[in-house]
Amino acid sequence: MFGSQKVPLADEDKFIEVAKEAHTIVKEAFNSEMFRQLGTGAYVDLAQEMGDMPNIYSTLGVFENASKISGSTMAETILVRNRACYECPIGCGRVVKIDEGKYKLPETDGPEYETLCAFRSLILNDNLEGLAYANYLCNIYGIDTISCSSTIAFATYLYEQGKISKDEISGIELKWGNIDTVIQLIEMIAFRRGFGDVLAEGIRRIGEKYGALDYAAEVKGLEIPFHDPRAFFGMAICYATSPRGTCHLNGDVYLIDLGQEVPELGIVSGDKFEKEKKRK
Ligand code: SF4
Repeated sequence: MFGSQKVPLADEDKFIEVAKEAHTIVKEAFNSEMFRQLGTGAYVDLAQEMGDMPNIYSTLGVFENASKISGSTMAETILVRNRACYECPIGCGRVVKIDEGKYKLPETDGPEYETLCAFRSLILNDNLEGLAYANYLCNIYGIDTISCSSTIAFATYLYEQGKISKDEISGIELKWGNIDTVIQLIEMIAFRRGFGDVLAEGIRRIGEKYGALDYAAEVKGLEIPFHDPRAFFGMAICYATSPRGTCHLNGDVYLIDLGQEVPELGIVSGDKFEKEKKRK
C-alpha cells in the first residue's frame, strides 16, 4: 500500500523548495537530455570507443558494425516513446515496437545499456530488432540479460576452442553473430531443454563442467556486466569486493574516470596511463 503514511518533515516548505531546485538541476543537466533522447544506450558509442564494452566474450575490444546498434539507432527506428520512473524528469526508459517480420513485438520495454551490450558486441550481433526480441524473451521469462548473454558467449567460445563437442549442443548452430541461435537458446534455457539445461547453470558451473574455470568471467558465480576493468581499472576492485559478485551497481568507479569527480570528498580520477608515462 502506498501513500497512506508520510514521514514528518521538520520544515516542509524548505524541503519542497530544495526538492524543486534539485529537480530543476537534474532536468536541465546535459546528461539528462542525453538519456532522455537516447536512453542509457546513449553510452554505447562512447563505451565502444573507450574499450568499456567487451566484445566476443571479452576477447576483443572493437566491433566493426558497432554503429548499427546504439541509443541513436534505436531512437531512429523502433522507439515508440520514453518511460519514466515515478516523478523522474529524465525518462531514460525505452518503449519499443516492431510492426512486422520474425521479430514482431507489441509495445514493450526496450533494451537499456547493459542489454544493448549483452546481445550485441559480446556475441557480435548487429541486428537491433533481433536484439530487442531477445530482450523481450528474457523479460517475459525472468532471465537476466547479462548472465544470459555471457553464458551463451562463454559456451560459443568453448565450442570454438573444441572444449564443447557438437554432440552436446542439441543440433543448434553455435557461432558468433547469430541472434536467431541466441533467441533459440533463450527458449531452451527458460524451459531447460537440451543444451539449454546446461546453459541455465551459468558461467561458473559451465567452466567447472568443461575444465575451463580459469576462462569463466565471473565473481562469486555472477557473470561480468559491461563495464570492462581493462578500460577502468577500479571496476576490478568493485567486482572483486561486491557482496554479490560482479555487480556494476555496487561501485560506479568508471563514472569518476569519466569526469564525475567529487573533489571535496577526495574522490578524483586517477591517470590510467601513469605507469606508461613513467616508463618513457
Ligand atoms: S529514475 Fe528511472 S527513468 Fe529516471 S533516470 Fe533513473 S532509471 Fe531512468
